[in-house]
Amino acid sequence: MDALNPRALFPAPAPAGSRPTIGVLALQGDVREHALALQAAGARPVTVRRARDLGDAPGQRLDGIVLPGGESTTMSTLLTGFGMLEPLRALLRAGLPAYGSCAGMILLADRALGLEEGQATVGGIDMTVRRNAFGRQVDSYEEDLDAPALGASASRPLHAVFIRAPWVESVGADVEVLATTRAGRAGEGQGGAGGRIVAVRQGPLLATSFHPEVGGESRVHDVFVAMVTHRA
Ligand code: GLN
Repeated sequence: MDALNPRALFPAPAPAGSRPTIGVLALQGDVREHALALQAAGARPVTVRRARDLGDAPGQRLDGIVLPGGESTTMSTLLTGFGMLEPLRALLRAGLPAYGSCAGMILLADRALGLEEGQATVGGIDMTVRRNAFGRQVDSYEEDLDAPALGASASRPLHAVFIRAPWVESVGADVEVLATTRAGRAGEGQGGAGGRIVAVRQGPLLATSFHPEVGGESRVHDVFVAMVTHRA
């Protein structure tokens, strides 16, 4: 991320006025990168630090929310401590669109393996994720994904950055799989990291194992903003 010149990485934002307001959960993690990517995708990003920032219903304060990458244990602890877990669950049940990347994906999972003792998720997507699935090693790798539903094409694959990422072990019938890692990829995770589900959607909820906001990949945010404005 070129913090001094974000416009070098993202295209110009849409004109003001018609922009949806999208919160970025700002308890911990890569909040600023998501805010920049949302702005580039035509949204008005706002930070969400306390329960009052969430509003009582979808559309009241927020038209959508991003749960960023970072550390899901810390976010879970703070969500619980600040009394935000139940209000957030209620908003998602009421249809607030949400996008979770990496730690945010873990938070959106109905079921998760490898959580810390007492760690709660927000839930919403009928899937089981495995935390830190790709192995701890230097803990990061990058891969170009074939993900047409996220705007990728053969000539412009989606550049995905994985940092101590989870993968999705299994999904329910209503969950759409949007991207998997290349089949046959070796890797350090249990049973190999090839052919693993790394992007999913269930209705207004979107989640990726990787961080499009790191490194200037704005197409996932474009898709999410389109979901928020009911264009996708
Ligand atoms: N391993 C982290 C967790 O469990 C997620 C890493 C990330 O978001 N980059 O929360």
